[in-house]
Amino acid sequence: MRLTSLPLVVSLAAIAAVPATPITIAPSGDILGFTPASSRAEQEWETKFRALPSPARMRADMKRLTAFPHHVGSPYDRNNAEWLLKQFQEAGWDAHIEQFDVLFPTPKERKLEMISPTRFVAKLAEPPVPGDPTSYQTSQQLPPYNAYSIDGDVTGPLVYVNYGLPSDYDELARRGISVKGAIVIARYGRSWRGVKPKIAGEHGAVGCIIYSDPADDGYTQDDTFPVGPARAPYSVQRGSVMEMTLYQGDPLTPGVGATKDAKRLPLKDVKVFTKIPVLPIGYADAKPLLSAITGDVAPRDWRGALPITYKIGPGRARVHLVVKSNWDIKPVYDVIARITGSTQPDQLVIRANHHDAWVNGADDPVAGLVAELEEMRALGALKMQGWSPKRTIIYAAWDGEEPAVLGSAEWAETHAADLSEHAVAYLNSDNSGRGYLSVSGSHILEKFINGVARDVIDPETGATLERRMRAAEEMRAPAARREATRKRADLPIGALGSGSDYTTFLQHLGIPSMDLGFYGEGGRGSYHSAYDDFYWYTHFSDTSFVYARALAQTTGMAVMRLADADVIPYDYTDLAETVQGYVGELKRLASGMAADAVEHNREVRDSTFILTTDPRNPMVAPTIEPDVPKLDFSALDSATAALTRAAAAYNTTFTHALDAATTSENYAALNTQLIKSEHMLTSDAGLPGRPWFKHLLYAPGVNTGYGVKTIPGVREAIEAKNWTLATSEMARVSAALNAEAALVTNATAELRR
Ligand SMILES: [Zn+2]
Repeated sequence: MRLTSLPLVVSLAAIAAVPATPITIAPSGDILGFTPASSRAEQEWETKFRALPSPARMRADMKRLTAFPHHVGSPYDRNNAEWLLKQFQEAGWDAHIEQFDVLFPTPKERKLEMISPTRFVAKLAEPPVPGDPTSYQTSQQLPPYNAYSIDGDVTGPLVYVNYGLPSDYDELARRGISVKGAIVIARYGRSWRGVKPKIAGEHGAVGCIIYSDPADDGYTQDDTFPVGPARAPYSVQRGSVMEMTLYQGDPLTPGVGATKDAKRLPLKDVKVFTKIPVLPIGYADAKPLLSAITGDVAPRDWRGALPITYKIGPGRARVHLVVKSNWDIKPVYDVIARITGSTQPDQLVIRANHHDAWVNGADDPVAGLVAELEEMRALGALKMQGWSPKRTIIYAAWDGEEPAVLGSAEWAETHAADLSEHAVAYLNSDNSGRGYLSVSGSHILEKFINGVARDVIDPETGATLERRMRAAEEMRAPAARREATRKRADLPIGALGSGSDYTTFLQHLGIPSMDLGFYGEGGRGSYHSAYDDFYWYTHFSDTSFVYARALAQTTGMAVMRLADADVIPYDYTDLAETVQGYVGELKRLASGMAADAVEHNREVRDSTFILTTDPRNPMVAPTIEPDVPKLDFSALDSATAALTRAAAAYNTTFTHALDAATTSENYAALNTQLIKSEHMLTSDAGLPGRPWFKHLLYAPGVNTGYGVKTIPGVREAIEAKNWTLATSEMARVSAALNAEAALVTNATAELRR
């Protein structure tokens, strides 16, 4: 369900700057975490591995997996799971299906009509497109809806709220416009869709419509489907609106696996459904509604790309919205396969992608899934040839990701104790296309994944993935930071918020996690619509499947290295530097808010706002705000400094220790310690108000959804101007960083023995 949050925009000049000379893989040094001897053996297996993934097979697999709609509970969802199981077994893996029973609402009634000033009934359907065979499977499709919207039948005036962000409601308040009793219409983008009805409800709205404006992924971006990839007028973005910042997975079984006899919450006690009914629509349905709204003209940055005058309302336009679901329990089928490790079988390296889709789902999720399948087959083939990983490898294909990461959350919650103690890493992919390798995840894996990206070739330029990523990174860096970007040994990876199956592993269990995919050069605009299918993908995305092969090579090699390394290849220097960066951001956030408050209060005292408002259309006059106190960051600074010192010492010792001829048996105690290191960055009590989320460095933002908030406890407290909470959260984060520094220092001592 992940929506690419970071499309790399690169000019032609940047592409020309990439040297086109093909670079053959000739690893200069040893692989991180390997001794010289084991490094050579590993490289031989990796060379064999890289040759195996086949674009032709990935294309055939995609065609097979996307032949029919395969959402949770559909016949083809189960059919796919059984087919996937067979693929794993045929490749020599020990595989089975693990079933959970989860709450998955599907549409029973959907109605959206304008009742004044004129009558208009929205179509709420995606018509078949000539030439695209699967777009005709309308009777098997889940129609456009937002899963976990509460049932409702509401009527009210229509108000346009831009993206529906908190700042958009501030703007409405300045204009004296209330959404109380209204149905709001918000455009997709800038925040996760589930946040829009949540904030609307908090402001008193009774219903919420979310539409795709052509400014986002429609005709301003490219030709629309089927001529081009961009979103067509009736194409709708489906998606979950569950309140996923509280907890994820099955709404009825928070924190425990949704097994047959798990204790389930009654529907009335569930807190994660929306408070008001929600329905998504395309811009063909939105245009008559938006153009009927009267009242204030929307501010400049609220205007989308429809050929209308965007107005806010409320005015003459009134709408009637009905949303009703079948609230059924449905089975999800997780396919779980393993190769048992030879020397450390209890330690687990996990790699997964989901297999369910909203409709036919070629980009999301099958593009990532076919890469995973080819890795799995290649690893199976290496095993037949005698390759024997030290640690146990688990490959999983999750069901039920789209509604609420159901399959992965329930599996991870069921096996939580084992996973927390033994999982070395969780590697995820989801939708994927063409362009640049994009990696987000735990920063203790940043150096490691840089090493992998140096050993895989970009299929269309012949440069290594890392060279291409670096060129793009340098182009994007502001001039003042360009030199520092060039000099940094490792390319930075992003932090993970939410939006795919890594969430439970990273944020609930504290397992080092990474999410990988290719983006930036393929088409966009089919996301969560019936047109995300084989026809769309093979015309507008990675049409030759060479980037799917690169994804298989990258992720598969990462799995091999994590499973074979003598010392688990975590590094703490990049983590320490990243945390230092986050602390700097928090300081700037607090000081910026203090300066803003001073300026605001001065303008209130000087009547600046009153003098600049249109006397015939006055704004509500703002009032004096309390001053922002000066926060004490010293504990956080000293904890970060301690981690920086410990990380540097470990890094130096690590490099030297592995130069000596040692074997992995010497490192058993060290590895057991290292596995705890991400866990040190979590708190059993969890984040304020949301105990399911235990990671103190990364979480989806309460008001952003998928978008990550780093050091979330402190950052969100500052944003909410809750200074007492900010101070106590700083103490918790400092304690965790000090504990991490102590663990790293102990690991250094263990290495020196
Ligand atoms: Zn997905």
